[in-house]
Amino acid sequence: MAELTIALAKGRLLGPSIKIFESLGYELRDARDSRKLVIASNGARFILAKPMDVPIYVEYGAADVGIVGQDALRESGTNVYEPLALGYGACRLVVAGKPEFQNAEWKMLAGLRVATQYPRVTKQYFSARGLSAEIIEVYGSVELAPMVGLADLIVDVVDTGRTLRENGLVELDEIFKSQAAFIVNRAAHTLRANEIRELMEKM
Ligand code: AMP
Repeated sequence: MAELTIALAKGRLLGPSIKIFESLGYELRDARDSRKLVIASNGARFILAKPMDVPIYVEYGAADVGIVGQDALRESGTNVYEPLALGYGACRLVVAGKPEFQNAEWKMLAGLRVATQYPRVTKQYFSARGLSAEIIEVYGSVELAPMVGLADLIVDVVDTGRTLRENGLVELDEIFKSQAAFIVNRAAHTLRANEIRELMEKM
C-alpha cells in the first residue's frame, strides 16, 4: 500500500502538530524551515495546506488523515471522520460588535451586516435563530469591518480577546469552542484501519 498521507494545517496549529509527529520519530525539519509542501519521512508523506483546505484534501482522499482546527472543519462542511480532539489550538468562534450592540437587543434587529471568514457557519448560526443578516465574506482582519462601516457585526475566532479589545469591539455571543482535531478520510478509515488506529494510539 502507498505511504500514509497526513495533511497538516499551516498557521497556528503547525508548530504543535510538527512536535507531535517529531515525538513519534518523523523528521519534519523541512516543514518548519523550508517552503516544501510535501515532505516524505519514515514511511509517511506529510502535506502542508491552508487550514480551510485540509478537510477538503482528506474528504477527497488526497490525504488519508489530517490535523485541522474544528473551526475550519465546521466551516468546510466536509464529510470526514473526526475521531480525536487533540487538546491544543484552543480558540472560540464568536459574534462580536461595537459596545452599543451589547445592550441593544441586536438579535431583534433585521438586516444586520456581518463580516466573516466563516460564511457557512455564520449563515447556520443566524438562520437557526430566525435572524436575517447579510453575510459579507472577507479574507482577513475581520475586526476592521465594523470600524469603517462595512459591517455591524463580525463572526471570528478569538483567542485572548486582545484583538477585539484593541479594536473597540465586544463579544456578543459564543458560537462554539474549537481545538485541533484529527480527521480521517471515510474510505481510509476502513481500508487502512490498523495503520490509522496505531497512529491514533501513539498520538
Ligand atoms: P486574540 O487577539 O488573541 O483574541 O486573537 C484573535 C486574532 O487572532 C483574530 O484576528 C483571529 O482571527 C486570530 N486567531 C485567534 N485564534 C486563532 C486560531 N486558533 N486560528 C487562527 N486564527 C486565530
